[in-house]
Amino acid sequence: MIIVMKPKAKEESIQKIKSLIEEKGLDAHISTGKEITIVGVVGDKSKLSDQNLELFEDVDKIMPVTESYKLANRKFHPEPTKVKVGNVEIGGSNLVIMSGPCAIESKEQLLSTAHAIKKAGAQILRGGAYKPRTSPYAFQGLEEEGLQYMKEAREETGLPVICEVTSQNAIDAAVKYVDMLQIGARNMQNFYLLKEAGKSGLPVLLKRGLSATIEEWLNAAEYIIAEGNPNVVLCERGIRTFETATRNTLDISAVPVIKKKSHLPIIVDPSHATGVRSYVKSLAMASVAVGADGLMIETHPNPSCALSDGPQSLNFEQFKDLTNDLRPLVHLMGKTL
Ligand code: PEP
Ligand code: MN
Repeated sequence: MIIVMKPKAKEESIQKIKSLIEEKGLDAHISTGKEITIVGVVGDKSKLSDQNLELFEDVDKIMPVTESYKLANRKFHPEPTKVKVGNVEIGGSNLVIMSGPCAIESKEQLLSTAHAIKKAGAQILRGGAYKPRTSPYAFQGLEEEGLQYMKEAREETGLPVICEVTSQNAIDAAVKYVDMLQIGARNMQNFYLLKEAGKSGLPVLLKRGLSATIEEWLNAAEYIIAEGNPNVVLCERGIRTFETATRNTLDISAVPVIKKKSHLPIIVDPSHATGVRSYVKSLAMASVAVGADGLMIETHPNPSCALSDGPQSLNFEQFKDLTNDLRPLVHLMGKTL
């Protein structure tokens, strides 16, 4: 449940409520907005049944939160959350583009990509060092060697870097090299991994599971936030449907739905959603138009030779075209790129 305080409620009144909640063994989360403060309660609220909170000083009303996710819920935190990744803010007035290869293949490949995407306007470099491949015989990633190249790319370009983690070992290694962790679609409900990512202290990009509902996705985000890490960004990357013309089906409606249900920023990945290079630009446009806070786009110096996801990767020229074509739309949406 949430306790909505009256406008201009005194700090003393808010603290009194918070102390009472904590004395009963529950958690109190305070969200201070421009006008009002909300105290969110997590835990067994029957422990408060002997208290008439509505009669406390400066309390306006008590409202139930029926959804199972609380900390990710917009009711708990009406103001949109902004997540800092290095010096880049996601969820603010900038449209943030993360771009780079599906898999880090060599130092040259990563560094040339980092320079090209930066020049075209991307703000974060992505690249996979631990690849969750469908086939065990496909390229599995350079692991720590790849992370080392990520760090070098950041040093050379100043771009913050993000890498997917697939295990506890990968988290332990990645925290030494990267600015943001990615939890991939296949691990969205790996609850142990979510908790460990929450404990890492780094911001986390949480991709939507292949067949996950929005409610399951927000509960996955809740696992990370419940570890004391509020820096979660959601990424819609297409879901599995009966349609086979594209690799997945981009659920574009997830953007406004998430904006309504949650305060977390949401970005869209049209590369994995379509699996087809020639559809990436139109769906990137659609994502911006529907209010996404950013995009994730796969790029490669020579997509036809890529060790993974070549058919959906853009070369540098195509990526530059994409950002140039996006810019007027981004400005129309009141954002910068
Ligand atoms: C990726 O970003 O390279 C990736 C594997 O994405 P997803 O988890 O969305 O399939
Ligand atoms: Mn990929």
